[in-house]
Amino acid sequence: MTDENAMTGGGLDMPDDIRAFTERLPGVIFQFHRGLDGHMHFPYLAGSGTGLPGIDRTELGQDARHMLDRLDNDDYPKLMAAIERSARWRLPIATKFRIRLPHGRCRWVALRAQPEDAQTGVLWHGLMIDITEQMVEEARLRRLSDTDDLTGLANRRKLMVQLAEEASRCNRHGSPLSLMLIDLDHFKRVNDTWGHLQGDQVLVELARLCRKLLREEDTIARLGGEEFAVLLPFTPLVRSLPLAERLRQRIAEHGFGIEPGQITISIGLAEYRPGEPRDVLIERADRCLYAAKHQGRNQVVS
Ligand code: GH3
Ligand code: MG
Ligand code: MG
Repeated sequence: MTDENAMTGGGLDMPDDIRAFTERLPGVIFQFHRGLDGHMHFPYLAGSGTGLPGIDRTELGQDARHMLDRLDNDDYPKLMAAIERSARWRLPIATKFRIRLPHGRCRWVALRAQPEDAQTGVLWHGLMIDITEQMVEEARLRRLSDTDDLTGLANRRKLMVQLAEEASRCNRHGSPLSLMLIDLDHFKRVNDTWGHLQGDQVLVELARLCRKLLREEDTIARLGGEEFAVLLPFTPLVRSLPLAERLRQRIAEHGFGIEPGQITISIGLAEYRPGEPRDVLIERADRCLYAAKHQGRNQVVS
């Protein structure tokens, strides 16, 4: 170690062949130092990942801000909190973050680091690796597992997750939330008369009409078969009722490639009551749907 490195508790002297080896690593190995005054820098940094455009390794040896400033806005506080926690409890860091590159591109980076006491603060030994491809693939799989094949709408799984999120928002902030349950009327007859393939097309067209009529922030889901649900955040019953009525009417007037008036829907509508389990809301909407069917179909009951 040089004198300066000994001061910060970092820096490495190594033979040339080891140096050449570290430069070829498909990732980055580093030492990261945080001084008692809060100043952060990388006493040691090696690997092919240090060749990212816009990231200057010499500058990082002086000041880690040159990298931290490039972090995605959401990820910066997360990484700072991870560093703080690790420094305080001497726990390893395991996190990931996005780093902005020139021309609006961004890469995902996974970071692992082990802290150690240094005379002048805390010194971490760690590695970073580019995980952008995995993150893209993960997002694709998540989308797949959340999506209904036939209609491209959210599926039941996604709706339940969304409902849990929206319900907890209601409980925290008291914002209103409505749930619509939709069931096609006499759909067996539609299949029997026009065939199952035509029936499928009706479901696809219904999904399109719902998307057109509802807002971006509403979750429209196919629960299965010919049953759908719409989750309407920030919407009390007095506002979701006319919306449901408009949707019902729009469907009843639409041709669906057969004859107008052949396809109708029944809707059960309920508003979330703060504190209740989400299943209670679903049951209430379901009872309304049952009533709508019982009272002759092609109607909204709330
Ligand atoms: P109602 O709801 O008005 O009481 O009558 P219904 O005929 O719609 O009754 P039910 O809910 O019992 O039957 C639903 C039918 O929907 C059964 C099945 O033939 C049809 N169905 C379910 N899933 C699909 C699908 O993915 N594609 C098509 N084409 N038909 C489906
Ligand atoms: Mg049904
Ligand atoms: Mg039905």
